[in-house]
This record gives sequence, C-alpha cells and structure tokens, in this order.
Amino acid sequence: MKNRLKNEAKRKALQLKKEQLFNIETLYNGLISNDRASLSKAITLVESSKLAHYELANQLLEKCIKHTNTTIRIGVTGVPGAGKSTFIEAFGKHLTTHGKKVAVLAVDPTSSLSSGSILGDKTRMETLAKDPLAFIRPSPAGTSLGGVTRKTRETIVLCEAAGYDVILVETVGVGQSETIVHSMVDFFLLLKLAGAGDELQGIKRGIIEMADAIVINKADGDNVKPSKLAKVEFERALHLYPPKENGWLPKVLLASSTEKQGIEDIWSLVNEFYKQMATNGYLEDNRLKQLKQWFLQNVENLLKAVYFEDKGFTSAVEETLKQIETKAISPFRAASKLVNSFHK
Ligand code: GDP
Repeated sequence: MKNRLKNEAKRKALQLKKEQLFNIETLYNGLISNDRASLSKAITLVESSKLAHYELANQLLEKCIKHTNTTIRIGVTGVPGAGKSTFIEAFGKHLTTHGKKVAVLAVDPTSSLSSGSILGDKTRMETLAKDPLAFIRPSPAGTSLGGVTRKTRETIVLCEAAGYDVILVETVGVGQSETIVHSMVDFFLLLKLAGAGDELQGIKRGIIEMADAIVINKADGDNVKPSKLAKVEFERALHLYPPKENGWLPKVLLASSTEKQGIEDIWSLVNEFYKQMATNGYLEDNRLKQLKQWFLQNVENLLKAVYFEDKGFTSAVEETLKQIETKAISPFRAASKLVNSFHK
C-alpha cells in the first residue's frame, strides 16, 4: 500500500514536471515567434514572487538569455515633468518607423507605495502603444524595492528573446531608480529642462556622472534660447567631471519631444556610442559586470523568498514581533536569534 502511494506520487510529480516543461516550451516558442500574449504571460511568470514559479521562470530565462547580445539597452531618466514619456513616445516612434522593434519598461521603486504605476495609465504613450512594433509594459506592482528590480531585469531578457531590438527602461518615481536603471542598461540618458539660470542646482551629482547623454527637452517656442544657454552650461559642467572609464565623452543635445526635433540626432549618438564601445570591448565587459550584479541580486531575492515562504519562519517572525512590542527583546538581537535558529 505504502509503495503504491509512493509510486503514484512519483508518477504525478513526473507528469507535473512534463506539463510544466511543455508549458515553458510553448511559452518560449510563442515568445520567439512574436506572440505578444506569450510575452505578457512570460513576464507575469517571472514577476511572480511565488517560489514555485521561480524554477519555471528560470527554465524560461535560461532559454531566453541566449538571445540577448545584439540589442540596445537605453535608460531614460529625468524628474517628473521633464517629458520622459513624451520623449520615449517620439523616440520609440522614430525607431519603429525605421523598422526597429521597441520595448518600453519601467523601474518604479515607489509603485508598491503609491499602489499603481504611472505607466499603467493607458493615456501615456498612446501612439506608441498602438504600434505593432512596440511593446509597452507597465511597471510591476512589486512588493519590495528588490522585487521590482529583479522583475525588470528578467523582463529585459524576455523582450530581447522576443526580438525587440531596442529596450528603453524608464525611471518612474523618485529615489533609487536611477542607479537601478543604470545597472541594467548600456546607455544612460538624462532628460533635463532649461531652468531659470539654476541649471546645475538640484541635480544629484551622481546622476550627471552616470549620464552618457544629457538631452535638454522642450527646446521649442520661447524655450529655444534658454535651452541653448542650458546646453552650453551643461557642456561646461561636464568638463568638471572625471573622464569615464570607457573613454566616452558624454554629449549634450537639444530636443523637442512634442515637435519631434532632435530625435534623430539622439539616435545617431546612441549608435556612435555602440560603435565605439563595441570596438573597445566595454559593451561586453559592462554586460558581464551586470550579469554578476544580477546574480547577487537574485541570490538575495531567493534567500528572502525561501525564508518568507516557510510557515515556521513567518510564524516565528510574528512571535518575535510580539516580543518586540513588549520590549522583551531588542530588534537587533531578535533578528540574529531568529535567523540563527533557522540557519544551522
Ligand atoms: P514625465 O513626467 O517626465 O514623463 O513627463 P511627460 O512626458 O508626462 O511630460 C510632461 C509635460 O510636458 C506634458 O504636458 C508634455 O506634453 C510636456 N512636454 C513633454 N515634452 C515636451 C516638449 O518637447 N516640448 C513641450 N513644449 N512640452 C513638452
């Protein structure tokens, strides 16, 4: 009897494994043959925080990661109102007009707090959203900063396997997102506006340092002259920064996203960057460096998931929280006691 039950369980496990493999195979085949529904489904799978989905997501990603070499990954940042979504729409349209497939993703560390992402709003990037060569993915409603990051990285891999040539990753919200986006792209673009003479104030030094191009957006109408002035100021300011390790000299460009001016120049600049970086080996080195970062990030996420999906662990957390409430134990000692009791 016992043996029969054991065999039955084995058979079911095998069947389940087969079905899962079959699903991943189907998903993968759909994905690489330009089926949007498969891509969306695949993204939902990798975005799942369930441990059971992790293995399946990994199987899929393993197949997909082989496709990721010839793409262009661009990060787009700028304060809210700088015109990021208007720019991405204009830039994306320019690319699709030239036959490129474009995916737009977002990193939004605040989405879990604001319950809903700006990109989820259907009115954004309306024209691009309708373009058959474009895929716009709203930022995931993650539950943690780390969680959101993990998913965007995996989503890049899926989109690239699906044949998207250019991946635009937008920072949405404020906070850590610039650094996170920078760590997953090749080219980092900072959108700026001509200010009232204080162009260089209020910008975090680190962001300028990360930028491969600064685009002064809204350089139209009465704003043309101030934008030209801002360009000169930024060019001067860029000289004060140490040269980049890869030898690239960041450029300042003018654009009007609403009038679609300067868009082509930005695309040319991106191509120039790729040409130069492919020649000096930076592109490959940087992507390898990023792969190592992705690995560490995944280890962190996985460890978290392993613990927090363990019922014994979560109930011990609940218990400890009560002890902390009564000040029976300090949070520091409580944390190490808890982890030590589960990690022998
Ligand atoms: P985001 O918050 O950075 O994504 O900014 P949006 O793309 O939503 O743009 C904010 C506002 O600026 C919108 O009202 C846009 O129409 C406007 N805008 C964006 N780009 C331009 C531009 O190049 N010129 C002008 N005049 N307005 C722009």
